[in-house]
Amino acid sequence: MVNWILKKIVGSKNQREVRRLRKVIEQVKAFDPQLATLSDDELRAKTAFWQGELAQISDYGEQQVYLDRILCEAFAVVKEGARRLCGKEEMVCGQPIAWNMVHFDVQLIGGIVLHQGKITEMATGEGKTLVATLPLYLNALTGRGAHLVTVNDYLAKRDSEWMGILFRFLGLTVGCIQNDQPPEFRRQQYQCDITYGTNSEFGFDYLRDNGMATTRETQVQRGYSYAIVDEVDSILVDEARTPLIISGPSTVTTQQYDAFKPIVEQLVKKQALLCNRLATEAEELFASGKKEEGAKVFFKLKLGQPRHRSFLRTMEDPELRRAIEKAELSYFGDTMKEELFRIKEELYFIIDERAHESDLSEMGREFLSPGDPDSFVLPDLISEFAEIDLDTSLSEAQKLEEKAKRQAFCDKQAERIHCITQLLRAFCLYEKDVQYVIEENKVVIVDEYTGRKMPGRRWSDGLHQAVEAKEGVQVDRETQTLATITIQNYFRLYSKLAGMTGTAETEANEFHDIYKLDVVVIPTNQPCIRKDLNDLIFKTRREKFNAVINELKVAHARSQPVLVGTVSVETSELLSRMLKREKIPHTVLNAKFHMQEAEIVARAGQPGSVTISTNMAGRGTDIKLGPGVVEAGGLYVIGTERHESRRIDRQLRGRCSRQGDPGLSRFYVSFEDDLMRNFGAADRMTKIMERFGMKEGEELEHPWLNKSVETAQRRVEQRNYSIRRRTLEFDDVMNKQREVVYGLRNETIETDEPRRIVYEIVDETIPAKVDSFLEESESGPDYASLLGWINSTFPLGITAEKAGFEGKTPEEISNWIIAKVKSSYEIKSQHEDADAVKGIERYIVLNAIDRLWQEHLYGMDALREGVHLRAYGQKDPLIEYKNEAYEMFVELMATIKNEILHNLFRSASNLQSFEQFLASLPQHMLHQQGGGEESILSGLAEEKPAAQAQPLFPPIRHAEKVGRNDPCPCGSGRKYKSCCGRKA
Ligand code: ADP
Ligand code: MG
Repeated sequence: MVNWILKKIVGSKNQREVRRLRKVIEQVKAFDPQLATLSDDELRAKTAFWQGELAQISDYGEQQVYLDRILCEAFAVVKEGARRLCGKEEMVCGQPIAWNMVHFDVQLIGGIVLHQGKITEMATGEGKTLVATLPLYLNALTGRGAHLVTVNDYLAKRDSEWMGILFRFLGLTVGCIQNDQPPEFRRQQYQCDITYGTNSEFGFDYLRDNGMATTRETQVQRGYSYAIVDEVDSILVDEARTPLIISGPSTVTTQQYDAFKPIVEQLVKKQALLCNRLATEAEELFASGKKEEGAKVFFKLKLGQPRHRSFLRTMEDPELRRAIEKAELSYFGDTMKEELFRIKEELYFIIDERAHESDLSEMGREFLSPGDPDSFVLPDLISEFAEIDLDTSLSEAQKLEEKAKRQAFCDKQAERIHCITQLLRAFCLYEKDVQYVIEENKVVIVDEYTGRKMPGRRWSDGLHQAVEAKEGVQVDRETQTLATITIQNYFRLYSKLAGMTGTAETEANEFHDIYKLDVVVIPTNQPCIRKDLNDLIFKTRREKFNAVINELKVAHARSQPVLVGTVSVETSELLSRMLKREKIPHTVLNAKFHMQEAEIVARAGQPGSVTISTNMAGRGTDIKLGPGVVEAGGLYVIGTERHESRRIDRQLRGRCSRQGDPGLSRFYVSFEDDLMRNFGAADRMTKIMERFGMKEGEELEHPWLNKSVETAQRRVEQRNYSIRRRTLEFDDVMNKQREVVYGLRNETIETDEPRRIVYEIVDETIPAKVDSFLEESESGPDYASLLGWINSTFPLGITAEKAGFEGKTPEEISNWIIAKVKSSYEIKSQHEDADAVKGIERYIVLNAIDRLWQEHLYGMDALREGVHLRAYGQKDPLIEYKNEAYEMFVELMATIKNEILHNLFRSASNLQSFEQFLASLPQHMLHQQGGGEESILSGLAEEKPAAQAQPLFPPIRHAEKVGRNDPCPCGSGRKYKSCCGRKA
């Protein structure tokens, strides 16, 4: 009853709207006489005039106001164009087609609804393809591009060529996106005023443009202004359950980590031995009263193994702790720099617990790759590029090739270093059953505050893989998501969206809730005289199909064409076999070969033809009746099963009785159909049937029974809608993240000043870092770690004295560091080729985003699967997902920024030589020869080796490496080569 009342209200609202629009149509038609007097060129000139006017208006909203104002005249121009084309023959998809259409009044109404950004429901055969020409023309005048979305490539091509006749006549360009087109071609298609294509082509182009392209030239789309989605229910409802996904070989594997694990394990063991010796030494020094010396050795131990038991124990004693902290701070003084560098070089690697970082020393590198310590050093790209540019023996093409090669090498190198670093962290900072547990062959993170397990969560930046490699557990995924978007979220990008279909009414709620799209039902041009018969209900499928075949025989005998709809390919084939036995000629369609299908479906209205088709097949092609078919009752549509959704059934019925043709439709249903079994309709009906006294082998029909079936359908629709909503709610989380990341990416690609982006990151990251190091904690501000972080990120060689942090506010400190970083970078890049620097800056930003974002997507997939496993409380997985996705995202952005800063100063290295160069010119002449003092602290950073000299500024060598015959730095008294330097 409520429903009925609702329908009345909705119905009458719809009627009022249509009545209102009819009045507007009168205004459109009022232009006809006047336009008829114009020459073709004068008619076309209207287009150019409006385009010119709209080009003057930059504001989107104001443009829309203008469009509303010219709507009536513009529609009249399109209609006049169609009138003038009548009788003209042109090729469409390789076949000659004579234009024979002038917009009907109801089509004009449909056009207005589309322009308003709503869904127009117009029955099959009402000519929606032509309707779309009106709002497409109007909205394309803005020059922002208008898109028409079709269900398949064939329709995109057909409709763009067919309607293209009209658009070109009016002076607009039309493009069409097809699956196999190369990027340059696609770009041209998007440049056209109007572009046809399928939803997946549009969506994938979006993902490629925003997630993969690295230059403006390789992006093909140009904005999302207006789109009309044809068969909108099929695209926004049926296909919306599966998101568009670009997948590729998984970037997340433990493979490389597995490969490096054995050697890193050995390295860690070596360091452990060395640290044990240090611990003994320190304890002995303390015991013999040499507090200062002991504290120094403990500091060294902390650098090498911050979790060493002896060290931790000693730190519990407040007095000893103070001594160690004092020693630590003293190492960051100017006079101690050399000393600090030396003790660091006496370890294999350095672990910074606070910053969760690790760094290889020269000795460590030598151990990993004996005789070739450079294999774990990043090349200096800028100077390499500069050298290439100066090389006159190379052609431009060769130069590009050479640069690409160096870049690739640099990437590979960076990956190796990264891999080793993460493994070191996994071994030295992450403990099983503390930070993580192993469950079902998976590394499950344990929340450090609550101690609860977090299945599905992954550490980022390769750390998780490193821990997996350490524990020997497998990552089994071969492919992963590289980019993904739901169809819903793709279409939400458009400033204005519209849709058309024969069947939208039943889904009006969903369109409204999710897309903010209202549905307006447009009356047919001719009254529809189709007869929808009651469903025929059978006990078994066998009885049902037999009845269908009998009915087909009868219809065939009177030469009435029949279209048989099935819900599956299987049923199509079963029916086909049964018909073969009866020797009834027929065709079967399965929604695979769109073009051939269109031709076959077009013939389905010929006398005596029998066409079996799944409900998707041949969509978008209308069925014209052959001679004599009207007399035989028109096209007969038989549904062999009720679909889950009422809408699809309506769609099938709508294939007959187009434009006032006669026609007939009937559904055959059995108790054994999925819908009936799964949704309780059968039980209810069995009761009804018992009352009717139905016997085996009998069929039944009654309007009440139709209702029962529809109730079951409504239930399924409801359930499917919740599934789609859910998918969307989950994707909304991703969507926000995607917007931020794609935004940053696009800004990087588009900007002429990539440095601005880098500097913004500097401005943001440094204060955050400073705060985190200096925040009030029981141990007080951690100046030493802050210095460590600065120097390992920016090779500036900043010392405690120079910095003079103590007594300054965090803000002052941040500002000081920021200024230092920027000025150094400015000086450095002044001497480089400006374009090369820009290129590298852009590359560094994109590279960090892409690598980490893809890993993040992998993590998000895992999280999504994982949250459902969380069995605590009565928590909603969606809320869990939202919260953790947010945390992961915050972490992702921080990691991206950190990596950008890190790499920026890596490939543009040797900054400290500039510092020195500036500080004292004469000194710089000396420094270039041997180990300069300023360079000492930069041992924290990955320094580039002497061999890769900077052309402008001669490199500064580190303090000497430990020679093979030197005393071993571990203090054993043996020679280095026969002690720690022994090859593994
Ligand atoms: P729909 O998409 O609404 O099912 P189509 O756009 O495929 O319908 O058009 C169905 C048929 O109607 C086409 O053969 C087309 O040529 C014809 N048609 C559409 N509009 C007109 C018109 N105004 N005058 C004559 N024929 C028309
Ligand atoms: Mg159509």
